[in-house]
Amino acid sequence: MTMEAPRQTYWQIRLNRVKEALQHNNFEAYLAEDPAQAKQVIENEILANLKNVRRVARGDSLSFEGTGMLEVIHNNAAYEWIDPFEAGLADEKSYERGRQALLADLFFTGCNALTESGVLVNLDGWGNRVAGLTFGPRHVIVVAGRNKVVPDLETAMFRIKNYAAPINAIRHKTKTPCAKTASCEDCNSPERICNAWTITEKSFPKGRIQVVLINEDLGI
Ligand code: SF4
Repeated sequence: MTMEAPRQTYWQIRLNRVKEALQHNNFEAYLAEDPAQAKQVIENEILANLKNVRRVARGDSLSFEGTGMLEVIHNNAAYEWIDPFEAGLADEKSYERGRQALLADLFFTGCNALTESGVLVNLDGWGNRVAGLTFGPRHVIVVAGRNKVVPDLETAMFRIKNYAAPINAIRHKTKTPCAKTASCEDCNSPERICNAWTITEKSFPKGRIQVVLINEDLGI
């Protein structure tokens, strides 16, 4: 037997527990084995049951991009696609679209970390992603790989500040110390990407936030 099968089973068990914890916290939650299955879940189990969805937007998320749903929404004329992160967009235009995204009917995003007790933990530079997660869009779909699951809030915040943020800084070529040291220096840089935290303990209203947990390591 290869290592992959036991690893998959291990994560199925853990992700099932996280799914139950999320449901206890008023989130809808789904499991998928890979991004392709996540796409099917989103199309057949979530979108098929949502009414009056016209304006669709997204926060910056590699996990969401990995599902292929971006192309599905973009190419479907039934949706008005608001994409703050369209390639080649100037910062000013991107920021304006980020504002418009907060009034979308449906908002796709990822998640920096997710605790075993079913709490979503995120940290933003602009705040557009955590804003949309918290209030504005009528429906939110969060896509998260198994690597985002952590035991508790403290570990979540450590992971975000000392792992996800430095990698994001390197990815976006920001002039912040963490891009050089690979750990958080709690900088005062004008390009600091860590400005607004959210700890989403419950979905309000119930079911507004739907989380798709994927049994693969995805995103950062
Ligand atoms: S606070 Fe500054 S140094 Fe720390 S992770 Fe964020 S951008 Fe990097």
